[in-house]
Amino acid sequence: MKRRKCVLPGDEVAVVEEFIPGEGTYEIDGKIFSAYCGDLELDYEEKIAKVSARNPPVTLKVGDVVYAEVTDVRNSMAICEVIAVEGKERDISGDTSATIHISKVSSGYTQDVGKELRPSDIIRAKVIQVKPSLQLSTVGHHFGVILALCKKCRAPLKKRNRTLYCERCERTDVRKLADDYGEVKF
Ligand SMILES: [Zn+2]
Repeated sequence: MKRRKCVLPGDEVAVVEEFIPGEGTYEIDGKIFSAYCGDLELDYEEKIAKVSARNPPVTLKVGDVVYAEVTDVRNSMAICEVIAVEGKERDISGDTSATIHISKVSSGYTQDVGKELRPSDIIRAKVIQVKPSLQLSTVGHHFGVILALCKKCRAPLKKRNRTLYCERCERTDVRKLADDYGEVKF
């Protein structure tokens, strides 16, 4: 007989006199606790208590849409850190450090990556390669920068026609923008 129940991290799920602490559990002073938010399974035949996590970390796949922060810009590429996968409120397992090659910044010709993407920009991008290294693309009107800060005063830049503008410094800036720049809520 097996019994299933939804539990939270730290919930007491069983005692060691009756069950063996299995996967997803830990024991303190003879009591078994859940390590995860997930499904508790009490196996009365094997005498094992285990919890399977409901939201295991996601592994990035080619075609995934991700959000990332640009951390560095070089001549031929931008380096970024993937923060989240669109539509999934989960942590990412494995490597989150990615690059965008100059040819994958926009559909047009990019002469200077630094004029399209800048460090601290938040971008929406598509995963185009996972191994041996994580590669992203911002080609397409829905991909590119969704939030950029003024490099002088760090205020969020506002979109004005096809450029960005800082109202405080009265300066204009350019980026490879996503079509919904400034409208994305986290
Ligand atoms: Zn400013």
